[in-house]
Formats: sequence, structure tokens, C-alpha cells
Amino acid sequence: MKNYYDIIVVGAGPAGSVAARYAARHGVSVLLLEKDRDVGYPVRCGEAVNKSRITEFIDPDEKWICAHINKFRFVAPNDKEVTLQFREEGYILERRIFDYQLAKLASEEGAEVVTRAYVNGLIIDEDCVRGVKALIRGEEIKIKSKIVIAADGVESRVGRWAGLKTHIDFRDMESCVQVTASNINNINPDTCYFYFGENVAPSGYFWIFPKGNHIANIGLGVSGIIGKKKSALKYFNQFMERRYPDAPFLTSIAGGVPCSVTLKKISSNGIIMTGDAARQVNPLTGGGISSGMIGGSIAGDIAGHSIKRNTTDYLSKYPELWHQQVGKKHEIYNRIKNGIYNFTDDKFNKIADSVLKLPDDKRTLRNVFTTALINQPSLLLDVAKVFIY
Ligand SMILES: Cc1cc2nc3c(=O)[nH]c(=O)nc-3n(C[C@H](O)[C@H](O)[C@H](O)COP(=O)(O)OP(=O)(O)OC[C@H]3O[C@@H](n4cnc5c(N)ncnc54)[C@H](O)[C@@H]3O)c2cc1C
Repeated sequence: MKNYYDIIVVGAGPAGSVAARYAARHGVSVLLLEKDRDVGYPVRCGEAVNKSRITEFIDPDEKWICAHINKFRFVAPNDKEVTLQFREEGYILERRIFDYQLAKLASEEGAEVVTRAYVNGLIIDEDCVRGVKALIRGEEIKIKSKIVIAADGVESRVGRWAGLKTHIDFRDMESCVQVTASNINNINPDTCYFYFGENVAPSGYFWIFPKGNHIANIGLGVSGIIGKKKSALKYFNQFMERRYPDAPFLTSIAGGVPCSVTLKKISSNGIIMTGDAARQVNPLTGGGISSGMIGGSIAGDIAGHSIKRNTTDYLSKYPELWHQQVGKKHEIYNRIKNGIYNFTDDKFNKIADSVLKLPDDKRTLRNVFTTALINQPSLLLDVAKVFIY
């Protein structure tokens, strides 16, 4: 390993690996540092993605696709079920392999990937980030760079060290619990299940995502505010005792998902932030894999471009590009989320009842939205904007 790279990326999640790849494409030197022993492990994710959003970055490969999804099932608090055909295909990933493949693509493009490399500080000179301090396989090392990309996930500290404000409101931090369980026999292998209601997952949702062979990711997210009164784990245990009391757990995890708009400031002198670190998660669904990859691609491309032209002036374009491509939509999703999360059980039940009155071929996501809007007309404008942008 050298003691200088043009660009250092901290964190080899989807955002970091894509950032490293897009930066390396410019022919500049890129170092991707990951604190864990293996890229992609441990997995803290439901692993659901929309196919079209990720195949822009990686060719589909059955090695990392556990299940092909073409239906959603929404379960109302009164247990009424609405099933919708999904027009675009979705996947349930095997992220252990998916994340690894993304890092491999970055290395094939020329980025150097180092695992067991824990970044524990920044080199800052005259108010500009000029590299990182890291503990790499037991050795304290300083590595200089022109640009650092912080892709260190939800618990990001790198941005904070550079003086960027990474705080988000407690109510926007979804507190999640999830297991990968086996012997889940009563689900369709091509359907993602979402449960709503005060007793199931207030201000969030409960999910069952099939992974094939009677295995599924089962979990929930509740707003940090709710989680303070009654933990996500308690809601989780209640659900499992009722539905799957004997299901063995193969893995269990807890974690936060920042369901907010993007941070106000995501770049500064010599540093840019991407993925969960920059709060680039879709605030309505909590999905951050594909949006992190988009954020990473913009960040990496801008950083590589800056080095090639020997100026860091381009970095200031990053927030603007992100906002145009995705950030603007996230602001609208966030307002829709705030509207939907205030729905009472009665409102969810009424929506399910109304949708169930529609003939099968009219039960589309659009009609569910329309029915929801009849219950909350103030959201209409925001939804209209999502379709316009
Ligand atoms: C329970 C749960 C379920 C979820 N389900 C879904 C889902 O179904 N679909 C979806 O799209 N999203 C889901 N998400 C969100 C998704 O997992 C994240 O949005 C996504 O992983 C963000 O990618 P990232 O690259 O920004 O961060 P991460 O994937 O978190 O990667 C960050 C990387 O940085 C490394 N790192 C951190 N600090 C350092 C450091 N100091 N030095 C070196 N390396 C460091 C970490 O080890 C990690 O590998 C879920 C999240 C949770 C918690």
C-alpha cells in the first residue's frame, strides 16, 4: 500500500464500492478501505431491491439473486390482504455476495481494496481534508489524498470529523430488527409481504421478504420516537410469537435506517459524503441500496473528474447533481411518509377495504395510492410531483 492516493473511499458498502469504481474509471489512484474482515459481511439489510435500479450498475447474476419478486402483499391491521402485481421485477439479494461483487468491480477498474482497515481519523490541514488515519491490520497508518469520500454507513463519523453536520431527528431514524428465519412455509416465493398497524409497527412497517428454500428475511422498522416507548424488538417478538413461534433464526440483527431527506451539506473542502452517511436513503421505504449506488456513482465520478482536472472546484457540483437526480424526489417521498405514518389503523383498514372492492386487474399500486389519497387529500400535490419529476 502507498502513503498517497488521489482518492480514498471509506466503507465498502454499495455506495462506497460504486464510488470507488466510478472514480477509478478516470484513471486516478483510488483506495477503498473497509473496516470489516470481509466486504459484505455482516449483513444488516432486508435485501429487497428494484431490478431496474441496480442493473444500471451490475449485470444480474443468480449468484447474488435469492428470489425474483413480482408481487407485493399489503396486510392491513384487520388482517385484510391486498395483493398487487409488480410491473417491474424486484430481487431479494444475497448481499454478502452482491456487495463483494461490487467491490470486485471497483478493483477491476483499478481501485485498491483493503479490508480490516478501520479509519479512525482524518488528516486536516488548513481547513481541508487531506487524507485519513487508519488502523490497518494492527498498524496505525496515515495515508494522504486529495479527496476523501465518506461512505461509512448510517453510523458515519468521517463526515463529522470534517465538521459536516450529520445529525438527524430522532423521529426520522427508523429503529429496525430483523432475522433470517427458516421453516417459513406459508409464503409465496415471489411475493414481498408488508404489514401495517399500531400493534404491528407504528410509524413504520413489518416485512417478510422470501429468500427461497423456505427461508425469509423477517423484520420491522419503527420510528426512533416510538422505539423509545416500546422497543422494535418487543413488536418483533409479539409478531413472531403469533405467526411463527417455532421458526429457527439463522441470523438476527438490529440497526438504524435514516428515513429523512439528504443532509443539507454533503461536501466540503476535500471531502464528499455518500450513501447512508449522507442520508441518501428513500425515506418512504427505507431502501438505501440503489439510492446509495446512485449517490456513490455521482460522488465517484465528480471526484475522479476533479482530480483529472486538478481542481477540487467540481466537488461543489455534487450536491446539486444528487438533488437533481434523486434528492428532490426524496424530499417529496419524505412528505408522503410523514402523511402515511400518521394514518390510523382505521384509515389503513378503510384503504384495504376500498382496494379489495376493485376488480383484480384494477388493483395496482397507483390505485392503492389513489385510495390512500382520498383519505388524505393534502398528499395529492406531493404525489403529483413524484410523477412529474
Ligand atoms: C434492518 C435493515 C433492513 C434494510 N432493508 C433494506 C432493503 O430491503 N432494501 C434496501 O434497499 N435497503 C435496506 N436497508 C438499508 C440498506 O441496508 C442501506 O441503506 C445500505 O446498506 C446503505 O449502503 P452504504 O454503502 O451507504 O452503507 P453500508 O452498506 O452500511 O456500508 C458502509 C460500510 O462502511 C464500513 N465502515 C463504517 N465505518 C468505517 C470506518 N471507520 N472505516 C472503514 N470502514 C467503515 C462498514 O463496515 C460498511 O461495510 C435496510 C437497513 C436495515 C438496518
